[in-house]
Formats: sequence, structure tokens, C-alpha cells
Amino acid sequence: MRIFNAVIIIVLASSVVAADAYTIYGTLKYPNNTAVQYEEILIECEPHAYDCAKFSGESTMSDFGGGYRLELAYDEGDDGIELILSVKGETFKHKISIDNASQSEGDYYSNLNLTLNQDPPVSPLSAGFVCGTLFFILVFANVAVRTGRRLMTPEGRQRFQGRSPMPVTTCKICNGTVRRHLLVRHLIVDHGIPPEDAGALAGLQFSDERPDD
Ligand SMILES: [Zn+2]
Repeated sequence: MRIFNAVIIIVLASSVVAADAYTIYGTLKYPNNTAVQYEEILIECEPHAYDCAKFSGESTMSDFGGGYRLELAYDEGDDGIELILSVKGETFKHKISIDNASQSEGDYYSNLNLTLNQDPPVSPLSAGFVCGTLFFILVFANVAVRTGRRLMTPEGRQRFQGRSPMPVTTCKICNGTVRRHLLVRHLIVDHGIPPEDAGALAGLQFSDERPDD
């Protein structure tokens, strides 16, 4: 009876010791060798792979450099179980094998570097850069086109050179072309309108006319 107790104690003790960890670790990369950053690595199982089921849903996340560690609770009977590692819609198979793992203080470490098939996404930073560059090109093109169009007229050329042409307006009474700043004088002198009325008339007319800029 005492021996039986001793056996039970040994079995219990060894089962506690046997609750080791099996850690899958490595780096996750794109085909161009850049790191797959901060992506989830999730364990899935083949349909009807019941021995795999206890690991199903275990997950980890890759770090800045694409490195990852997936620590699983390991029992002796787990050797040979096939796992599926799912990353960004792609899957990788891994068979739990302590023969192919390195051992440290009773824990197992299995190195598994993963390379995805898909190309890396365009990073938000470079997308922003492209967008900004496009914006500047469009603005520049717009300015260039407008400047070019202006330079096609003699008036535009003068304006471009800093010489603003004399603004002219049409006299509402005689339909004659009059320089703007001379309209009041023209109304007074040529049409005999009292100065106050001439000023008001010209002011009214200017407020209707939009400045030609
Ligand atoms: Zn007139």
C-alpha cells in the first residue's frame, strides 16, 4: 500500500513536471524580406483534427521586426500533432515535434520562420507622400496653365510684368469707353451732372462691376 502511494505521488509529481511549454518562434516576412509587423498569428486546425483542437484559437502577434513567439502548453501525447498557423489569410503547417525542437529547462523551442506569398501593403506613410506629391504636381500644373493662359493676351502679359492695365468702364449715358478713375469727371464735365450725383452714380456702377481679378 505504501508503495502504491509512492507510485501515485511520483506519477502526480511527474505530470506536474511534464506540463512543459512548446514554443514556436521565428520571424514573419514578406517575399521581399521585409518584416510583417504587428500581425496576428493564429492556430487553426484541419477539420476533424481533434487532437489539434486544444491548441485551436491560440494566437500571438508579431513585433516591429516581424519576430513572434507562440507558447503552447505541451504534454507528452502532443508530439506529432499537426497545427495550422494562419497569418493574413495564408496558412502554414507545423507538426509538433520535440525531436526537431531545442530544449531548455524542460521547455521546447521550435524555430519556424514564415514567409508570406503576398506582397507588403503600401505603407500609410508612403501613400501620404505619393498623395502629397500628386497634390503639389496638380497645383503646379494648374498655376502653370493659368499663367500660360494669361500670357497669351497682351493685357495678361502686362499684368504678369507687374504693369496693371488702366481699368476702363462704359459710361451708362453715352455708352462711351471711359477710364474708371475719370468716370466721375466725365459725368460732370461731359453730361453736366452735379458732383454729388456723379459720385453716387459712379459708385453705384462700380459696385455692380466685379473687379476683373
Ligand atoms: Zn458719357
